[in-house]
Amino acid sequence: MNGNRFGPIPGSTILRAVAGRNAIVMAANVRIASVAKGIFRAAKDTDSAVFMELARSECNLNGGYTGLTPADFSKRMNQAAQDVGFDAWALHADHITVKNGDAAEIDSTKQLIDAQIAAGYTSFAIDASHLFDFEGKNVREELDPNIRITTDLARYIKSKMNGKDFGLEVEVGEIGRKDGSGLVLTKPEEAVTYIRALNESDVWPHVLAIANGSTHGHTYDALGNVVEQLSIDIPQTKAIAQALRDNNLHVGIAQHGITGTPRDLINLHFPKGDIIKGNVGTFWQDVVFNVLKVYEPALYRNIQEWTLEKYRPLNPGKSDRQIFDGNCKMAIKEFFRDLYSLDERTEYAIQSMTYAECLIFFRAFSSEGSASLVRKAIQ
Ligand SMILES: [Zn+2]
Repeated sequence: MNGNRFGPIPGSTILRAVAGRNAIVMAANVRIASVAKGIFRAAKDTDSAVFMELARSECNLNGGYTGLTPADFSKRMNQAAQDVGFDAWALHADHITVKNGDAAEIDSTKQLIDAQIAAGYTSFAIDASHLFDFEGKNVREELDPNIRITTDLARYIKSKMNGKDFGLEVEVGEIGRKDGSGLVLTKPEEAVTYIRALNESDVWPHVLAIANGSTHGHTYDALGNVVEQLSIDIPQTKAIAQALRDNNLHVGIAQHGITGTPRDLINLHFPKGDIIKGNVGTFWQDVVFNVLKVYEPALYRNIQEWTLEKYRPLNPGKSDRQIFDGNCKMAIKEFFRDLYSLDERTEYAIQSMTYAECLIFFRAFSSEGSASLVRKAIQ
């Protein structure tokens, strides 16, 4: 990858270039890698910087549920960028999740990071948001386990990157977590305490993921139908960004779980500039499956049957539609060979749909022109 002019650039370069510009950079979770070319083409044509990413659950040393290891993912993204001739992108490790923080888990996490760095990743999201001390006497104590693990892993990445610049995302408040009264949102005080503590330990994240009312994947009504996601709390998001600024903490917000949020709402009402990175994942999987429904009906039916057979027993009382919708991602690895040997016509349809949808995202995110800003920053 070194010496390749279309290889990934540090995530930090992109995030610094857009900070304060009222733009959101799209981060695409490319579960089925063939959408990458369509994304890069649209990014090139609209001059939009992008992140290409997969989370630990999606891509790890065992392949995750996409069947891709970090090396596979990197190779495919580099190839797509090379084919298109696009240069303003970062290769990002989304949700490097730590759930309990014991020695074995930290050890395996470091092995994953080693593999990501060896594969040429240029940006990392440490997610220790599950670690929360409910017995803590104040916010600092409640967040202490998250702060400790995040600091440890951030230092590890820094030492292994060996002087190379990289993007760093951290997370406070588990996205989509619910209690008796609904989604638990991150409070401004938590964001400030968390970032300040990290800065005091010489850890300087560029973006902070918060729980602000979004959920990963689709949102459903009581009957299990997919509905628009209107639950992102914009005032709370602005309040967090304001609190960070008031405390002189320089970090943007990463919005997770955008699939399902109407793009006209994003366009007109999202606090761009407060939010500077927007993750879009499930949406791209939907694009592929919607094409397969018509172009490859037999394959689509096989995927449907496999998913329902496997996940129906685990989801009593749920409609087939919701069971398929929530678990079809698990079929990607099972049908890996089929999904990566589609005929030219099907590929063309996937690329074209991806391209068009990207145009809408880039306009809604106001990211057009961000690639030039990034290039200027590099010179
Ligand atoms: Zn996420």
